[in-house]
Amino acid sequence: MLTWKSIISFTAKGNSTPDKRVEKSEQEWRTLLTEEQYKITRKKGTEPAHSGALCSTHKVGKYNCICCNAPLFDSTIKFESQSGWPSFTQPIKENAIKYIKDVSFGMIRVEVLCNICDAHLGHVFPDGPEPTGLRYCVNSEAITLENL
Ligand SMILES: [Zn+2]
Repeated sequence: MLTWKSIISFTAKGNSTPDKRVEKSEQEWRTLLTEEQYKITRKKGTEPAHSGALCSTHKVGKYNCICCNAPLFDSTIKFESQSGWPSFTQPIKENAIKYIKDVSFGMIRVEVLCNICDAHLGHVFPDGPEPTGLRYCVNSEAITLENL
């Protein structure tokens, strides 16, 4: 199981290998995504807290990357963090997510991206619930719920 220590190690030593890669030009992403989705996933934007459609939903399903449709999280690991963004305790599998140290805005944080297409998803923090103690704080606009 992933721990904060393993995440810090990914940021220092490199991420796990994804199952495949999806790479497109800025222009192709612009055509495929809405303006808001593009701004968040390709330009590292953040939607306003409590604005996202998936923030408080607890429907059963998988959360896929809005850019490449890779499965990233699922409803069994979603929890109510009160942060205003969809929150998860772990990814659907270890190599689904890429971790990068983010020093923007004068803070040291860990950015989470789709490991297949490099879509910016949000950040991960070491203040989540058991069993991982992790809180993946993800923009609603970066993911889509696939109902099962
Ligand atoms: Zn992706």
